[in-house]
Amino acid sequence: MKIVMVPAACLWFVFAVSGVAQQTPQSLADAELPSLITIYKDLHSHPELSTKEQRSAGIVAKELRTAGCDVTENFGKYDNSGGKCYGVIGVMKNGAGPTVLVRTDLDALPVHEETGLPYASMVVTKNDEGEDVPVMHACGHDAHMAMFIGVARVLAKLKDQWRGTIVFVGQPAEEAGNGARALLHAGLYEKFGRPDFALGLHDKADLQTGHIGVTEGYTYANVDSVDVTVRGVGGHGAYPHKTKDPIVVAAAMINAWQTIVSRENNPLDPIVVTVGSIHGGTKHNIIPDEVKMQLTVRTYKADTRKRVLAAIDQIAKGCAMAAGIPSERAPIVSVDEERFTSATYNNPDLTKRLVALWKKSLGDNNVEIVDATMGGEDFSEYSLPDHSIPAVDFHIGAVDPAKIAEYKSAGKELPSLHSSKFAPVPEPTIRTGIIAMTTAVLDLMKK
Ligand SMILES: [Zn+2]
Ligand SMILES: [Zn+2]
Repeated sequence: MKIVMVPAACLWFVFAVSGVAQQTPQSLADAELPSLITIYKDLHSHPELSTKEQRSAGIVAKELRTAGCDVTENFGKYDNSGGKCYGVIGVMKNGAGPTVLVRTDLDALPVHEETGLPYASMVVTKNDEGEDVPVMHACGHDAHMAMFIGVARVLAKLKDQWRGTIVFVGQPAEEAGNGARALLHAGLYEKFGRPDFALGLHDKADLQTGHIGVTEGYTYANVDSVDVTVRGVGGHGAYPHKTKDPIVVAAAMINAWQTIVSRENNPLDPIVVTVGSIHGGTKHNIIPDEVKMQLTVRTYKADTRKRVLAAIDQIAKGCAMAAGIPSERAPIVSVDEERFTSATYNNPDLTKRLVALWKKSLGDNNVEIVDATMGGEDFSEYSLPDHSIPAVDFHIGAVDPAKIAEYKSAGKELPSLHSSKFAPVPEPTIRTGIIAMTTAVLDLMKK
């Protein structure tokens, strides 16, 4: 047996090197947590409405800069207003290699917080109409920002394990649906590079903290806003035969539109047609001249979207014609293209790759395949309309399992996203988000 004597100085070197090598996303996330939870609580107490995210963007920019990113602030341009756009882009370079985009959203909602948390928001601000509205991080974007900052800090410390360029995107106006577009239209990919992959995350209000969830393929729907004006011929409520009653015609339309879902559409290709608002008339005994309706229409596939929107228009016009409304008073059906959010499609190959990876980094039982929803997310924009940039938007569990059990046994629904009673449990939600995102980026950029 040969004994090799190792000098003490060499041993010290071996320990020092192995000490560095032991740094993992998990250990680094643990080290960063206390400071990130402080940031999370501060952001939670200071929510800002969509397009007004000045303070939040400032914090994200400062933290990205401290983590070593080259930061551009006030990036983006809204299509429909000259208003300032608070996009934050942080570029972290580490030699030649792939480009990966990591996105957080920044904005909050006009909701009066009722969580009872010690760091609950008390903020009241003016909305675009000049009205006083309460503001709350009811969608958990504050937790996303804390995770995002954590991911930047951890990846900066693990530069020996990856190569390439990470583009950190702090996106405003997710809730308004036009934030991602504002960044892309301002030249996000031309100025900072077209990514090889795009990654996003969102907390989930019915998934237990410590778990993540993901869907392969479509995960969020196309969201269309449709305005319909039904034009009749008004008159006295007692003489309906002398009028063309737009209220009765609107009622017929509402029922007929549901046959698009139940009779015209393949039941295996989900769609939703919801009439969210209807306004017409002023008094019991007056038949009004018109009724206005606002619809939200949800689809996944582009051709299904086209067909459903055309059917809404055709049925509206058909109902009016059947009621004898003259063609010059035909209903006006308009699709608001500016408010359109395209469906989010999780690239199947990338999703499979990440699920296998997450099962290793988070544990087999902590990674769930979850159902797609008909909700909307403008993260979809980053993969481009033809989905040519592989992208995955995954879910972070945000609810105490004891609370899930309590609600389940009581037969009650948990507070959903956008509820005045929803807030993610900070721990281990933020830690899990950091580990999931960091390990995904490391895998896509590994040396
Ligand atoms: Zn939301
Ligand atoms: Zn959200």
